[in-house]
Amino acid sequence: MNCADLRLLLHAYSDGELDLVRSLDVEQHLQTCAACAAQNQSLRSLRSALRSAPLAYAAPPSLRQKVRQLNREPADSPPPESLRQPRAPWLWQWLAFGATAAAVLILALRPVGPAPGDLLADELVSGHVRSLMAGHLTDVQSSDQHTVKPWFNGKLDFAPTVKDFAAQGFPLVGGRLDYLQGRAVSALVYRRNQHVINVFVWPTDRPGAGQPVAENRRGFNLISRDVDHLHYWLVSDLNPTELSQLADLIGKPGTAP
Ligand SMILES: [Zn+2]
Repeated sequence: MNCADLRLLLHAYSDGELDLVRSLDVEQHLQTCAACAAQNQSLRSLRSALRSAPLAYAAPPSLRQKVRQLNREPADSPPPESLRQPRAPWLWQWLAFGATAAAVLILALRPVGPAPGDLLADELVSGHVRSLMAGHLTDVQSSDQHTVKPWFNGKLDFAPTVKDFAAQGFPLVGGRLDYLQGRAVSALVYRRNQHVINVFVWPTDRPGAGQPVAENRRGFNLISRDVDHLHYWLVSDLNPTELSQLADLIGKPGTAP
């Protein structure tokens, strides 16, 4: 990893968003490069300064007093029941209008929480993009399935099936360890002409080869399918039609990669 690669990943590293392998890459670089280590240090200082800074203030008593005076309420004791009608109805109307407007604004601006499936799709696309950006597409580079498959031995708690589909136009490029949904997964890398396809694989309880599910996220096409207790996610900028050809090859009995 060079300095330019590191600068691309530093913020994600600092936010704890990198997978295990890339975090180790970053740490290794930081140990040997003073310039990048200094930048990492200043990022950390900024984070801790923001965390400890008092970013909320209580209204001073003088302001409370002024608001009460505006409403001509006695400052200390609550008014008797008969006097609780505001003497300045226009002020209440304005306050009510302001509160309603604020509520509407908050509802409009409130971030919509992503569904769990969306989070996974985002993680998958991020994993795909990082593998292209950081020059870390493969840990083991080989078109030979008999080289790639054993490479995962001892690195994962399952054995991914690895198959080359060069004859069908999807040559195997290699494999990589990745980290998704809080677990280590295998990423198999295929090519279709100039397009890179990441196939993320991890175990699932679902046995069958159900119909593939396709979606588009941030301009990338994703297809998922379960085959023989393994969960496959294909991610690429390849068009959905050709990507589904690879998904079909993976789903074919006896030909899962
Ligand atoms: Zn550096």
